[in-house]
Amino acid sequence: MTVIKRNGKNEQLSKKKIFDSICKANDNVNADDRLTKKAIQRISEEVFNICQDFDEPIPIDKIEDEIEKRLMASTGYEVAKCYIRYRYEKERVRQNKSLTEKLMATNVVNQNANVDEFSFGGRIGEAASFIMKDYALNNLISKKARENHLNNEIYIHDLDAYAVGSHNCLSIPFDKLLKEGFNTRQVDIRPAQSINTAMQLVAVIFQLQSLQQFGGVSATHLDWTMVPYVRLSFHKYYFDGLRFIDLSSGSELRKKFGSKTPLTKDEIRELPIDSDWYNHSLPAYEYAMEKTIEELNQAVEGMYHNLNSLQSRSGNQLPFTSINYGTCTLTEGRMVIKALLEGSIKGVGKFHRTSIFPCSIFQCWKGVNRHPGDPNYDLFRLALKSTSTRLYPNYANVDWSGNCGYDKNDPMTYFSTMGCRTVNGADINVEPGVNPQRKDGRGNIAPTTIILPTLAMEADRDVEKFMKLLDKKINEARDMLLERFDWICSQPAKSAKFMYENGTMFGYKPEEGIRSALKHGTLVIGQLGLAEALQLLIGKDHTTEEGMELAKRIEQLFKDKCAKFKQENKLNFGVYYTPAENLCYTAMKKFQDKYGVIEKVSDKEFFTNSMHVPVWHKMTPFEKIDIESKLTGYSNAGCITYVELDSGTLNNIDALDELVNYAMDKDIPYFAINVPADCCMKCGHQGEINKECPECGSENIQRLRRVTGYLTGNYTTAFNYGKQKEVEQRVKHNGVCADA
Ligand SMILES: [Zn+2]
Repeated sequence: MTVIKRNGKNEQLSKKKIFDSICKANDNVNADDRLTKKAIQRISEEVFNICQDFDEPIPIDKIEDEIEKRLMASTGYEVAKCYIRYRYEKERVRQNKSLTEKLMATNVVNQNANVDEFSFGGRIGEAASFIMKDYALNNLISKKARENHLNNEIYIHDLDAYAVGSHNCLSIPFDKLLKEGFNTRQVDIRPAQSINTAMQLVAVIFQLQSLQQFGGVSATHLDWTMVPYVRLSFHKYYFDGLRFIDLSSGSELRKKFGSKTPLTKDEIRELPIDSDWYNHSLPAYEYAMEKTIEELNQAVEGMYHNLNSLQSRSGNQLPFTSINYGTCTLTEGRMVIKALLEGSIKGVGKFHRTSIFPCSIFQCWKGVNRHPGDPNYDLFRLALKSTSTRLYPNYANVDWSGNCGYDKNDPMTYFSTMGCRTVNGADINVEPGVNPQRKDGRGNIAPTTIILPTLAMEADRDVEKFMKLLDKKINEARDMLLERFDWICSQPAKSAKFMYENGTMFGYKPEEGIRSALKHGTLVIGQLGLAEALQLLIGKDHTTEEGMELAKRIEQLFKDKCAKFKQENKLNFGVYYTPAENLCYTAMKKFQDKYGVIEKVSDKEFFTNSMHVPVWHKMTPFEKIDIESKLTGYSNAGCITYVELDSGTLNNIDALDELVNYAMDKDIPYFAINVPADCCMKCGHQGEINKECPECGSENIQRLRRVTGYLTGNYTTAFNYGKQKEVEQRVKHNGVCADA
């Protein structure tokens, strides 16, 4: 019989070890209270025999429980007391050891690529998180939820945030905040009056909001958002031009208007820079254009630098920021898109390194930017150029069938996403007059993830049993989310003052409590390891026809049940293809401890992300898109498809053009391209660098890789072990045929 030790390792059940542990307690009580050696032998024998009868590996706790029971029932009452105290103290020492490891950063595991676990802030954050997770698990959640979590069946994300009842992520309504201004704890901020201020306020708002929640923050249509501020800057420069450049037209106009603009700020915000109004003076117009572009470029550069340097949250994290853009065809919007892309291509800092934040997402739209002749096609090409060296932008599909019903005239309803993949689907609690697809002011409230390979094992690798169990577990995931939702809704609004005072989450009615805002958000049921579950159930994954058939059946169940929950609970339940940055690794560890190494399933360090094709399959990028596009339609709460390309694609913009368009035509909602992006930290040389830099020979190389949708710093130091292993097994999708 095998025993599972606390460190997860297995060992043989030993009668001697049981005997020794009782002797230890026995030696520590008064001679009068001691048990005889014979009595101890008898108890050891009993415990051993009971444990022998278990038909699966037995956790060490269970053995200790058995010893305890028998000691209590025997005459050795004092020995039992001593044994229990001994167990308790050992448990406390273990807890203290883990806490010390977090506090001193002696066992850094890179749970989250964005946290510097070595820093003072990181150490405080990790230690606090350790205690809060423990608190949530043991005090806040139901027995069923705890069991599901501990058994590696349904994972509860961000348990530390669970403890205080904060929510996950938010698409920030920047249009409103920039136009109306906002309050912070110390001061109120006036509305933005120029493109420079507006861009810097975007960084400030991102940071403030990210402190009110635990996940990412996004801007859903930054190009449209910035149009009024380009106009405000332009108008100011135009008047400067009239005053200093074109003196004759200037004095004529002064006669007409006086020395100041006759327009109010609101009128300027509405006045296109290519309107006839600016026909008075060509020199002033040209001057204004030049100065506005200059200011815009500086503003964008400032925003990139801010988002890559302003740490927030204990844990020295950068806020997980994402910006969506690409559809605005107004002159001003096009200027913004161009500046954002050129800023991305330029990079940040001394070596012009790739900007890690914000996660940049280009919104592709038929007739707007996808093909030659479309008004923003030139900007799409520029986006591809940026992707080829910077990995960003990723591509969102405005035409995605899952976002049907959006309003062509309202950019707030265009398909947009959080960098990681989370999406706000149609809102069942939408207020009258609002489009259900409106993304702004909403976010994901809480995620859970069903670990499919565990269910496959528990169902004895039998398909029908598995489907039944999955059905049951999806129900339990709903219960777990409802339990958490109620807890989050019970928090006072003052816990997130910036959010509720400034209405960054829409719909808040003080008299109804924060539920009035939170009910517009999503509750999502995620999944991990579809590929491995299929392997367990039928011996092949969804790169085969049979595997795909079963995959569809599984995803249909998720979809049908979430749709049903949405109606029954009047809350936005959704199917989520979980990022699982840390979970892909920790869930695998637990799986291996329980079921050992199973070929093609647990003979590696990570589970395959959501419904992705396993990273080691050799195929063309088109084949990968073909396969995953068959499953993306089942998810309404977020999914990503990405392909790995080698450095050969770097200058082949036509190939990238074809690839992105192919993905969009296949109805992929969110698409990303991975290219090697290494940077020599000594001389700044960039590209795919093997061991040492070809320019200067340095081995100090930063290796950027995508982790969930976002990029991260050096993957060899910032990723957890499982993710590092996954990166190493990623094959390039370069048209290589299987097993070539
Ligand atoms: Zn170098």
